[in-house]
Amino acid sequence: MRPWLKHTLQITGSVVLLVAACVGALLYSVVGGNTEIIDGATPAPGVRIIKDGFVDFGVVDVGEGHVVLIDAGYDSKGAALLAELARRKAGPDVVTAIFFTHGHPDHTAGASLCPNATLYALDADVALVEGREGPHGPIIRIIGAKPTGLHVHGLKDGAVTTVGAKSIRAIATPGHTAGSAAYLVSGVLFLGDSAGMKTDGKLSLPPWAYSDDLAKSRASLVALGKMLESEQAVVVAIVPGHTGTGKFEDLTAVTPRP
Ligand SMILES: [Zn+2]
Repeated sequence: MRPWLKHTLQITGSVVLLVAACVGALLYSVVGGNTEIIDGATPAPGVRIIKDGFVDFGVVDVGEGHVVLIDAGYDSKGAALLAELARRKAGPDVVTAIFFTHGHPDHTAGASLCPNATLYALDADVALVEGREGPHGPIIRIIGAKPTGLHVHGLKDGAVTTVGAKSIRAIATPGHTAGSAAYLVSGVLFLGDSAGMKTDGKLSLPPWAYSDDLAKSRASLVALGKMLESEQAVVVAIVPGHTGTGKFEDLTAVTPRP
């Protein structure tokens, strides 16, 4: 083989390996070492977790056959959502409200299928859910702004919204996005992408590539745990958006970085 050809092949090979390693690292940062979402998990009576591919969403029974969703999944055709509603012998018209943990499209796509749902997000993420603004994380920003056709009501930190028989409390957890929220309903704390559960039993921060500000995200988690602990709030489970569920102690074990 000619030396120049050998040299070119060596360089090409190194570049291919480097790109493959980067893609691998990016994928691992999303799913590596995470616990599995358990489809149909019921952390509290009337609160069911549905697995929609690599994300989950919550279905909360609010009485008289109506439900509220916490997030709406990544699938714009809503296969998992429609299957869950069919299991209840119902259709998307029974969804009266959807609360978004944040405005990334993998948590909002199913919302357009629910004609009667009032949509809620924290004020700072309304433009993101509506697609008037694109995601800001270092890699996810390539998605850009794309109108979703959704009309979203803004919530303030601490807002308690009553829908049917249930009250849903929004708590700001800025970091992954500016308007990231945790929702507490029936003792189940939905965390969206503010945290994930690892197989070693520890809580992890969201992947850097998809997050606005990881230091802020960590500070929000610490503050959330402390606040609910000081209130002696009843939290029977924590539910991250891409992994299996955890216990309240997993959240309160998150400590500030020295
Ligand atoms: Zn996200």
